[in-house]
Amino acid sequence: MRAKIVSHLLVTLGLVALSVAATLVQAAPARNVILFISDGASWGTWDMASYYQYGQKGMQAYDGFPVKLGMTTYPLNTSTTPTNNSTPTVTYDPARAWDQTPNAGAYGGFASRFNGYDYIKRDYTDSAAAGTALSTGVKTYNNAIDVDNYGQDLAYITQRAKAQGKSTGILSSVPYSHATPATFGSTNRNRNNYGEISKEMINNPAVDLIMGGGNPNYDSNGKLRATPVFANETGTGGGYMSRTAWNTVNDPSKWQLLQTKGDFEALANGTLTLTGQKIIGLPQVYDTLQYSRSGAVVGTGAPTPSGKAYIDTVPTLETMTRGALNVLSKNQDGFFMMVEGGAVDWAAHARDTAGIIEEQIAFNKAVQAAVNWVEANSNWNETLMIVLTDHGNGMPMGPDSDTVAFDAIENKGAGNLPGVRWHYNTHTNENTLLWAKGANADLFYREVDGVDPGLVNVLGFNDGRYITNSDVGSVLHAAMVSEPASCALMLAGLGLMGFSGRRQVP
Ligand SMILES: [Zn+2]
Repeated sequence: MRAKIVSHLLVTLGLVALSVAATLVQAAPARNVILFISDGASWGTWDMASYYQYGQKGMQAYDGFPVKLGMTTYPLNTSTTPTNNSTPTVTYDPARAWDQTPNAGAYGGFASRFNGYDYIKRDYTDSAAAGTALSTGVKTYNNAIDVDNYGQDLAYITQRAKAQGKSTGILSSVPYSHATPATFGSTNRNRNNYGEISKEMINNPAVDLIMGGGNPNYDSNGKLRATPVFANETGTGGGYMSRTAWNTVNDPSKWQLLQTKGDFEALANGTLTLTGQKIIGLPQVYDTLQYSRSGAVVGTGAPTPSGKAYIDTVPTLETMTRGALNVLSKNQDGFFMMVEGGAVDWAAHARDTAGIIEEQIAFNKAVQAAVNWVEANSNWNETLMIVLTDHGNGMPMGPDSDTVAFDAIENKGAGNLPGVRWHYNTHTNENTLLWAKGANADLFYREVDGVDPGLVNVLGFNDGRYITNSDVGSVLHAAMVSEPASCALMLAGLGLMGFSGRRQVP
């Protein structure tokens, strides 16, 4: 952290540093950047899905990515409204996070068990502040959609990609106006203003493609409603999409609206007739693609981790990803795309082991499809892919984790639910896992904050090095601008200093 501050100061004190940096390694800008976010995935979540899918770890596409780093996720503060200062009030301390001293107390309605568990249950980020850090490079208060702690709008990654001539896409397995996707296409002081956010994303010149939940005409089981559920045009309340936003996406001069599973599959297979407008995909379901379904109500699918048949009229996140890649990759200047496994977080809040495995597997399949696309249609010299979570949730660990600190998930073989014990029902502040591969992926190593022994000694994940979530926002931008990477990173730093300057203005 200190080294980064020093480098930023060097830039602000004298542009001499830029000429020095220009003599360093010249890296070509990334043509395409693909960011995958499994929302609310603790360490155990990644393991659970791998055990169910493969009966072992190490088989996911991202397990082989060369860059593996921890990523801390704490917000600037835990207020739910701007507090009009730039002072960080929360942090992450590896020594406290991995403290195995028994703790007889409780926090948040759950027994603490160990000091480390107790520590990581506190001062957690929400998805809005976390998404803002990833998309803008700036930490802020919880509830903020790409605004800083003064409530001022921040520049975000799809705007920055658009400035580079790129196409942009935002995909999620939860409503497209939900916090995480919202931070890639709007600014708002309150993540719950779904009406405003749904309209802003639809009318945003920086956004070319949207796919996600929020369809006002269907319920969570994919059944047509008698009356649509719209979000209020302003303020909170109602559904996820305002009537105005819905009317806009139904205007064929503005958007090509996909709703049926067949249309999504045709887009993925390259057989859909494109009208030349921006593409929005709103599957015939209300909130999540599959997670919120009530049971074997629709269709008779194959056995699933939960035993509930999947809704058979809804595309998978993988199909949506393949379709989006077909469209966005037509731009010779490349694209930025964010794909969120949003319902992983919803399952974690519910401490739903089978449900989270379904959602994480859906996410894993989308990542695999994108890796296949890169290797068939692009290459790792021009495309950067990042796989991460925005924060932990639920503290899923092994069956003995009540008495054995950080006991690992119990593998019961492919196709079998693993042994899991949950310790919380909301977000957590642990050091999370990040994988990256491709163009300028090495830029992440310039952002290292320190070494977290737990990542090595407890998880065996990497060498312990970690960054923080706002570093991702800086690297996403630096990786795709045309300056030499070393310059670009410092310019990204300057940009952050610029935002700091704006904070001084009331
Ligand atoms: Zn989240």
